[in-house]
Amino acid sequence: MPKNPDATRSADRPLAEYQRKRDFTRTAEPAGESPKPSAKLAFVIQKHAASSLHYDLRLEVDGVMKSWAVPKGPSLDPAVRRLAIAVEDHPIEYNKFEGTIPAGEYGGGTVMLWDRGTYRYAGENPDPAEGLRRGHAKGDLKFELRGKRLRGAWVLVRTRSRGERQPQWLLIKHRDDEAVEGSDVTAEFTTSVTTGRTMDEIAAAAPKKQARAGRRK
Ligand code: MN
Repeated sequence: MPKNPDATRSADRPLAEYQRKRDFTRTAEPAGESPKPSAKLAFVIQKHAASSLHYDLRLEVDGVMKSWAVPKGPSLDPAVRRLAIAVEDHPIEYNKFEGTIPAGEYGGGTVMLWDRGTYRYAGENPDPAEGLRRGHAKGDLKFELRGKRLRGAWVLVRTRSRGERQPQWLLIKHRDDEAVEGSDVTAEFTTSVTTGRTMDEIAAAAPKKQARAGRRK
C-alpha cells in the first residue's frame, strides 16, 4: 500500500477520463470531485439505454467505481457467460444516479438503478485492488454480491483478444445457492431497484432541456 493513498490518487487522477468525456454544465451526472469511500464496498448495476442498451456493473475499488459495460446484462445461470467490457472509472456518487443523459452528450440516454448493494472481494488476497491487478494479470476476479436482485458468488474472467481497445472480460455466476439455471434475471426485473420506475417513466421525467449552466446536485 502507498504511504499516502490520497497523493497517489490525485497523481493518478483515476477520474480524469470520466471527467474529460463529460460536460457537467449539460449532464446531471455527478462530477466526482470528492471521492468518499463507503463504509462497506459498494456495487451497483445501472441499466443504460445509450446508443445500444447495456448494463453497467460497477465495483468500488480504492475510492472509485471500477466499471464494466455488460451488453446482455448479468445472468444467474452459471452456464451463461456474459461479455463485460471494461470502461472508465466512475465516481462513487454515480451509485445514486438515475435519470437521463441529454442526447448528444457522452452516454446520452436513460439510466436506471437496476441493482445496488455491497460486495466482498472473494479472491485469495483481501484487497480488491490487488485482486483487480491479479485479474488483469492472471485472468479472474472473484467477488460476492449482496444486492436486492443479485447475490452470491460471481467471477469476472479476463479474456485475451488481439488489438482490443478496451479490456474484455466475461461475467459468470458461480455455482452456489443463488445460482438459477435457465434464469433470465434482466427480463424478470425491469424496474428501478430504488424508485420502481420503468425506463419509459424515467425518460418521461427528464427535463425537456438540461443545458442549463451549472449542474444539478
Ligand atoms: Mn453505460
